[in-house]
Amino acid sequence: MSSVISSPLPLKLTPSENIACGLSRSAAEPHHIDTQIIHAGRDPERFSGMVNTPVFRGSTIMANNLDDWEAGRQVDNPMAMYGRFGTPTTRAFEQAIVTLEGGHDALVFPSGLSACTHSIMAFVKSGDHVLMTDSAYGPTRTFAERVLRRMGVDVEFFDPLIGGEIRTLVRPNTRVVFVESPGSWTFEVQDIPAIAEEAHKVGAFVLMDNTWATPLYFKSFEHGVDVSIHAATKYIVGHSDALLGVVSANQRAWPILKQGAHDFGQTAGPDDIYLALRGMRSMAVRLRQHWDSGIQLAEYLRTQPLVERVLHPALPSDPGHQLWKRDFLGSSGLFTIELKPVGRPALAAFFDSLELFGIGLSWGGYESLALPIDKPPTRTASKNTYQYPLVRIHVGLESVDDLKSDMGRAFRRMESAL
Ligand SMILES: *Cc1c(COP(=O)(O)O)cnc(C)c1O
Repeated sequence: MSSVISSPLPLKLTPSENIACGLSRSAAEPHHIDTQIIHAGRDPERFSGMVNTPVFRGSTIMANNLDDWEAGRQVDNPMAMYGRFGTPTTRAFEQAIVTLEGGHDALVFPSGLSACTHSIMAFVKSGDHVLMTDSAYGPTRTFAERVLRRMGVDVEFFDPLIGGEIRTLVRPNTRVVFVESPGSWTFEVQDIPAIAEEAHKVGAFVLMDNTWATPLYFKSFEHGVDVSIHAATKYIVGHSDALLGVVSANQRAWPILKQGAHDFGQTAGPDDIYLALRGMRSMAVRLRQHWDSGIQLAEYLRTQPLVERVLHPALPSDPGHQLWKRDFLGSSGLFTIELKPVGRPALAAFFDSLELFGIGLSWGGYESLALPIDKPPTRTASKNTYQYPLVRIHVGLESVDDLKSDMGRAFRRMESAL
């Protein structure tokens, strides 16, 4: 085989082009997800045998003659031959996500938040009704309250535990039902199939922020979701070194999502996409450790005298456990603990003596984090029954015994500062 690169054709790019997964072409049986995650979105033959799809930097994509130029332009998008609509790096990542998640197609966005906001924007117009879970990621909620309402969209929040009772809120003009399960602060698990069934009766689209479970641990499209949104920043990138969003959609939602993203000029930089693809290769292995260590640490924290409650759906004691068991294939390493009433000096003693847990936003990297949540997040449709402060914990990939010791030490310091 002479250099693949010398032929202009394999490198030509259109939005509909797929980088086929070498395995799915030849395999009679679908491979285990652990195998798919290694091979999805890779085609070394196209890139001189390179294992990883390279970083393509580019805006202009040149044609050599008029026939090629005209052939590359698509009916639905005459500007298709342009870097904003994706490079081989972009398509490799989007195809990998589709392989793992099972949607029709996927698109990148520059951050998880832009993936949430622009997915909603693609579907709504003035006069539409949007239902959003009360437990949505704060900035997504703020966007709905500040931007959607300003544009004449009727935004209504609902109790995350509403289930099929959402039928009492759904209207003929309900266009989007936005869910997030579990909520990323207090971890309420939503009955997605029941909600989707009611939403679909009026033709609404179910958009889900699936960041916590990743494409591996919650299969959105098998549970009635139409658009599955990920802050790839978290577990997909996995190393706290890039911001990225990715959204996959089923066949019904795909043309609307794609049009909206293109109308707004949404795209993402090739280096960040490369980092996401690279991080994704080890995600199945990493998640098993986050899951296992998360449960072990959560169980340990339950025994601490200053811990009132642990909010973690994979614990049998959690109110969302039955739904989690029914619908999810695993658990990530993010959960929250509710403390007994302690003052700020005691809280400071706790945080200041943690050696392995940094205080920081975001999560999903290899490092452990603890985040003080000192006041209740906005809730308008459900009761905020939590006692503050809460501490949200992301369990990293360190030895869980070391993490337990670190937490144990910090709790003893907190006790002596009471
Ligand atoms: C972090 C996060 C986002 C936003 O992702 P960014 O890449 O930080 O913009 C959205 N949803 C959830 C649940 C998140 O945790």
